Order: sequence, then C-alpha cells, then structure tokens
Amino acid sequence: MTGADRIAIVGGGVAGLSTAMHLGRLGVGANVTLFEARHPAAGSSSRSVGDVGVLYEGADELAMRLEALAFFEQVAEEVGLRFVGGLRVVDDARHRERLERAVAAYSGQGIDARLLEPDELTRVVPDMRVDDLAAGLWADRAGHIDGALLCNAYLERAQAAGVTVVARAPVLDVTSGQRRRFRLVTARGEHEADVVVNAAGGWSRALGELLGAPAPIVSQRHQVCLARVPQGLAYPMPQFQDSFGYVDSGRGLYLRPESETTFIAGMHHNYVPGSPSEDPDAFSGAVDPDYVEVLAEALMERFPGLDEMGLSEGWTGLYPLSPDDHLLVGPYAGVPGVVAATGLGGAGIQTSYAAGRLAAEWIVRGEPSGLRDPARYLPDRPALAAVATGAS
Ligand SMILES: Cc1cc2nc3c(=O)[nH]c(=O)nc-3n(C[C@H](O)[C@H](O)[C@H](O)COP(=O)(O)OP(=O)(O)OC[C@H]3O[C@@H](n4cnc5c(N)ncnc54)[C@H](O)[C@@H]3O)c2cc1C
Repeated sequence: MTGADRIAIVGGGVAGLSTAMHLGRLGVGANVTLFEARHPAAGSSSRSVGDVGVLYEGADELAMRLEALAFFEQVAEEVGLRFVGGLRVVDDARHRERLERAVAAYSGQGIDARLLEPDELTRVVPDMRVDDLAAGLWADRAGHIDGALLCNAYLERAQAAGVTVVARAPVLDVTSGQRRRFRLVTARGEHEADVVVNAAGGWSRALGELLGAPAPIVSQRHQVCLARVPQGLAYPMPQFQDSFGYVDSGRGLYLRPESETTFIAGMHHNYVPGSPSEDPDAFSGAVDPDYVEVLAEALMERFPGLDEMGLSEGWTGLYPLSPDDHLLVGPYAGVPGVVAATGLGGAGIQTSYAAGRLAAEWIVRGEPSGLRDPARYLPDRPALAAVATGAS
C-alpha cells in the first residue's frame, strides 16, 4: 500500500478491532475507518466462553497464542484475565503422542507444562473418571477473559491511534469507486477505500460476495450451559477439555470455573463437512432442551463425583468456521485490495490478537512477521478450495 491509501474494515468484533488496533500501531490509523452494522462486539465476540490458553502443539498455533497471552497479561484488568490452569485429556495412544509433542513444543517458552498419567489426573480433579483416559496435558498459562472487554481494549487503542469507528453502519453494497478502488454503500452514507478488510465473522460469506472475494465461512451454532455446584469444590477446577480429538469426535466436553460455585460448560467441535450454515441474523438464541440433557450426561460420565451439579441454560452463538478449520487472513491474489480477517472459528478470542496483526502487516508491509508459515492462512489457498469442494 502507499501512505495515502484508505483502508475500510467491515466488522467490529475481535477480528476487525484487532486489525484496526494493529494498523494503528503500524502508523496508518488515520487512514482507517471501521464499519460495524450494530455496535462493537455485537456478534460472536460477546458470546464466547472466553477460554484462552496454550494447549496446542503446532508451532504457529502456539506462537499465536503466546503472543496473545503476552498482550492479555499487559491488559489483564481491562479484559478480566484469570489464569486457572488448563487440562486437556485424551483417550488413546495417538492423541497421547500429540500431547507429548505439545510438551516438547513448550520447552523454553516459559510455560509450566506436564504430561500427566491417569492416576496423576485424579490428583488435579478428584471428581474425574480416568479409567478410560490415556493421559492429560497440564499447562499453567490457561484461563479466560471476557470477549466484549477484549473488543473494548482493542477499540480504545485503535481510536487512540486515529482509527475512525462508525457504528450502526452496515455495509449494504460495494461498487467501484470514482477516486478509489471501492465504494462502500453503508446505511450511514458512502465511503471510498483502496483496501477493504472482510472481518465480518459469520457474515463474511455475504460480504465476500459483495466484494467478489469468496469467503467460504460456515456459521455454526454453539450452545453453552451454566453448571452449579451449591457447596463449591474443595479443589481449584482448571479449564478442562475432553479429548485432543474433539475436533473429530464432536463431543469435546469443556468445563471452566466462573465463580466458586458456578461453571461454564459446553461441547466443542469444529467444522463438520456438509453441516448447514446458520443465518447469522436469525439463529436461535435459546439453548435446546435436548442439548442440556446430552451435556448433563457427558458431564456425569466424566465427573461422576460431581453428582450435585445442576445445569441450566446459558446462551448460544456462532463459530465463523472455515472448512479446513484454519484462519482466513491476508490478501487475495486474484482480487486486489481485498484482505480477509475471518474464519476465527471457536478460538477467535485467543487468535484475534495475532490474526489482526497478520492482516495489518499484510496490508502495510506486504508480508507478516513472526510465524513460520503465514501463507497457510491466505484466503485463496488451494487447500481450502479442495476441502470446500470435497476434493481430497
Ligand atoms: C458459544 C461460543 C463460545 C466460544 N468460546 C470461545 C472460547 O472459549 N475461546 C475463544 O477463543 N473463542 C471462543 N469462541 C469463538 C469466538 O467468539 C469467535 O471466534 C470470535 O468472536 C469471532 O470474532 P469475529 O470478529 O470474527 O466475529 P464477530 O464477533 O461476529 O464480529 C463480526 C462483526 O461484523 C459485523 N458485520 C457483519 N456484516 C457486516 C456488514 N455488512 N457491515 C458492517 N458490519 C458487519 C457484525 O455485526 C459483527 O459485529 C466462542 C464462540 C461461541 C459462539
């Protein structure tokens, strides 16, 4: 880009706001306008469970989370950071190997990470069933933050660096501009820009169509419940995740403490081929009664000692998932001026810091730093097209 280029970001969730903050840090904040259809944090970013942590073994996955944690620690009070430790358990030898690789990857990174055998796991969570488990990974730097507060932290820093944020301004159409490449038609007037960032979360597919830059995002509805143990626990419950293979199993039980007696629970799964994409403007916000039952069963199976736990409905929200479960971040080779910052899926609170930095550096520097393979996340990568079309 040139110093005079105007940048429009569409979407005021963690992805768009982090991109705005990082563009500000790179010195071009005054050239940036962010358009948000409703208000900042109106989408998935205020519906997350907020888990953040380091239970990942891929080098870039870990690097992105470490860089985010460093920021979250700097703004700990602003974003409500609470480290509770993280425990991820697996039930077979193949996934145990992944945990071993993760422990090796953490060495020298300032993380206290250990592989725990089943009998050691019961010392961490005495109420847990372990006879069906192969191992667990414990790491100290895991906990949670508040997604809406994180949006606010990004927003304040972006605005301080000169970024203009326009709320209640849905982008309704995109045409060619007269002075600049794009003309964005919004509910609050028209705006010309040289670069447009698609940070529209679950709405990215629709925005991609307006931009002529496909964003094959599937909006997958996820449900969360509140669990209560009236007497509290005699030990600190960590952030818990069942099975490294949760992505495949579709029953990745998770549980994390909210207060002494309250926990947040759900079942995580990533992209399921052929699963329908929800309408982000019309999905059901109420938790399905049968989901509460299935979740209660899963909790009782894993934590038979917590038989006094009561479950109540929490909330629902959308994971903006890409078909290969990786971020869509960076420019399109075939559509000059369009940059993606989307596909943050079920881990966008954690990855938004790095995703925004990558998007901003692609725009300003032409290439991002800090990751081994940032091209892996480009929005028109061949691997993505292959998954989307079902080719092997
Ligand atoms: C139940 C649940 C639990 C989760 N738990 C976790 C967790 O524990 N840890 C974690 O890291 N992540 C978690 N996530 C995932 C995380 O919340 C998302 O990955 C992240 O919020 C996505 O952010 P985003 O900015 O891409 O999308 P959004 O936050 O949805 O932002 C997109 C914004 O774009 C705006 N927009 C759309 N179209 C237009 C348009 N045409 N013009 C202007 N504005 C537009 C929308 O109004 C919206 O505000 C969870 C998600 C859910 C639903």
